[in-house]
Amino acid sequence: MKSPFVSRRDFLKTSTLAVAGLPLLGALAAEPKRKIGFALCGLGNLSTHQIAPALQQSQFCRLAGIVTGTPAKAARWKAQYNIPDRSIYNYDTMAQMADNPDIDVVYVVTPNALHAESAIKAAKAGKHVLCEKPMEVSVEKCQQMIDACREAKRQLAIGYRLHFEPNNLECVRLAREKVFGGLKSIKAGFGFAIGDPKQWRLNKALSGGGPMMDVGIYALQAMRYLSGQEPVSVSAIATTTDKVKFRDIEETLAWQMKFPGGILASGNTTYGFDGNNFFTAQAERGSFGLEPAYNYHGIQGTRSDGKTIELPDMNQFAAEMDDFAQCILENRPTRVPGEEGLRDVKIMMAIYEAARTGQAVNL
Ligand code: NAD
Repeated sequence: MKSPFVSRRDFLKTSTLAVAGLPLLGALAAEPKRKIGFALCGLGNLSTHQIAPALQQSQFCRLAGIVTGTPAKAARWKAQYNIPDRSIYNYDTMAQMADNPDIDVVYVVTPNALHAESAIKAAKAGKHVLCEKPMEVSVEKCQQMIDACREAKRQLAIGYRLHFEPNNLECVRLAREKVFGGLKSIKAGFGFAIGDPKQWRLNKALSGGGPMMDVGIYALQAMRYLSGQEPVSVSAIATTTDKVKFRDIEETLAWQMKFPGGILASGNTTYGFDGNNFFTAQAERGSFGLEPAYNYHGIQGTRSDGKTIELPDMNQFAAEMDDFAQCILENRPTRVPGEEGLRDVKIMMAIYEAARTGQAVNL
């Protein structure tokens, strides 16, 4: 199945559920014969506060194992989630997963530049891989992940949770059905004031880049799923007001992209200040957009005809994992494959090149 963000027919199928206010996925499905076992690899903030709780709410998944380099975390998670010793791994013992039928999927939730390492180990152990965004820090490493999963005949999905979020899906519908006519321009931004100067997000070797890789990617995704097209050229400017804190990465980045049909997209992202979390699509006869657009909860928006966009909240991580579990159970492709993650990384590398050289880069 293609992405509903790309294919109109599939989109309509999904959005009908969204508009009806039903849970997006699994609403019409029978109880699963068995739940897909997920091992969380990297037990940081996202795993602890979003993914593990979402697994408890999911319909087709269960928390079956963990991969951590910190023994104290292993003990805590074992007690909290009743994880058997044989399903607790560290980064060096992942090959032993090959003998563990309880684990079907490894969900990679480590710093960006460590995604390929764990994803490839998981694929070699015969596991499907769900990997957090951004997929990796270079095109080459993304391709290695795709190749490893293909070789192992296992699925690879990227954690693009907004492909399952009803308000974002509704905006894709407005764009695809040309409710306000054809799109002319898209503006999108996502940023926040980053705290701890010692965290890996500020270290290029681990993050691959600054806010562009971390949250600008959501604005880039919005441009791609709203337009339904791939950009043909990009230009960009990166700046910093704090050369100590942001010595390794950009603090703020603004970029522009041209799409083949002539749509112009303008994006910005920052680690310097709070408040940017939106997209607006301008079309021939009006406009629509979301603000906030990318949060876990409370996404809402407006249309130029005075209507609001405010479809019910749901757990995006549970929906994303349930969809992947169903893809595995039914042996069908994911709508957010590795190739989708690779496309974003390719474009982000072009954005960085444009910012570095001051020249537009053709894609
Ligand atoms: P985090 O720093 O809270 O957690 C990272 C985990 O990786 C920690 O448990 C840490 O111990 C482990 N780790 C392993 N090797 C490490 C090393 N060499 N250096 C540092 N940490 C190491 O980060 P996070 O916020 O949980 O982000 C993890 C991934 O999830 C990132 O790729 C990030 O982009 C992604 N993420 C996605 C979303 C989303 O909404 N989909 C939100 C937040 C983060």
